Amino acid sequence: MPELLAPAGSFEKLVTAIHYGADAVYLGGGLSLRARAGTFTGDDLMHAVRYAHERGVRVYVTVNSFIHEPDMDKLDNEIENIVKSRADGVIVADPGVLATVKRFAPELSIHLSTQANVTNSGAANFWVGQGVGRINLARELSLADIKRIRKRVSSELEIFVHGAVCISYSGRCLLSHYLTGRDANRGDCAQPCRYSYALVEEKRPGQYFPVEQDEHGTYVFNAKDMCLLEKLPELVAAGVNACKIEGRMRSIFYVGAVVRVYRAALDYLATLPTEAWDDPGRIKIPQHYSDELAKTGTRAASTHFIDGTPDESAMLNDCSRHPQSYEPVAVIKALSPPHVLVEVRNPLHPGEMLEYMGRGLDTKRLQIKTIHNENGELLAKANPGTHARLTFTQPITELESNGLFRRELERRR
Ligand code: SF4
Repeated sequence: MPELLAPAGSFEKLVTAIHYGADAVYLGGGLSLRARAGTFTGDDLMHAVRYAHERGVRVYVTVNSFIHEPDMDKLDNEIENIVKSRADGVIVADPGVLATVKRFAPELSIHLSTQANVTNSGAANFWVGQGVGRINLARELSLADIKRIRKRVSSELEIFVHGAVCISYSGRCLLSHYLTGRDANRGDCAQPCRYSYALVEEKRPGQYFPVEQDEHGTYVFNAKDMCLLEKLPELVAAGVNACKIEGRMRSIFYVGAVVRVYRAALDYLATLPTEAWDDPGRIKIPQHYSDELAKTGTRAASTHFIDGTPDESAMLNDCSRHPQSYEPVAVIKALSPPHVLVEVRNPLHPGEMLEYMGRGLDTKRLQIKTIHNENGELLAKANPGTHARLTFTQPITELESNGLFRRELERRR
């Protein structure tokens, strides 16, 4: 099975990704393409790599922004920190960064970022010739393209299987810089493609005329999220080496929920008999795997380019994102039965039903019996950002530290 590679936009997200079954995580160094996700530098990076390695998980550090000249002076230091941390590889897009890595750290494994937009075997082999060991192919490829490239390229191939999609080639977009001054190509996208747009006549400031692409509305640039769960068997059969989940800026709940489902799906595929792989197109990932993914709250899902050029159904034109059916409520920090110490993310009350997200696809519904604060005082409500000790009316034997609780929004109690 391919490696399951998860985003770790902070140490907490790294812990969550590992808890729910990532084989590897990627995280930002000082010159990463997610300026507003937590970056790991110095001791933080060492600590993160040590934590992951102790659990058998690989760590790749992103240095995948397009470096402007003043940042070139910071690059040597950045590469040195990555080498010291003993990370398993570095993810680059800019040839100048690649050359610097080769000069200062020839032993460091180099992965090519999706930002390099590799869409054919010629480009892939060019980068292999430059010392790249793994290529993250552009999201804008079909399964047939991926298979052809696989036959012609010897390096590892990595594919994005889940997460946000840009209306430009992955992040190579000036919309954010133009409208907000925040440069997507240097890790600071404000995501204006998700905004709702209107038209203003210059002599009538404040009067907004709706712009309508069609009867659905004005979210004209808003691409649905990518979800290739159903295509996983064919990607595995095509010889893809790593399945990557997008989302260093997303919450630990998103990371945990998505990693959990793809982990379960890859584990399910690993149990299939050899004959099943004679026709991978006929292998079906059971429906409840997709149902679980739908609970994460997304911009809807599309397979985008995997079956060829997408049509208008790949866009979400009537809203920025779909309403969530579940909301995250707490992270388990420690267990001392009958108490469960949690960090609260949404208000909690005694009597409420929560759903515990176990590893695998198991869930367990539990009703809160009592809530105490850390000083042992009984509470009628636990507020976000605080720690609370919960007891439940059911046994808590399956619960684990770093596991997540969510709540169905329609039935709060
Ligand atoms: S504005 Fe949208 S399309 Fe452009 S880089 Fe940002 S997320 Fe991608």
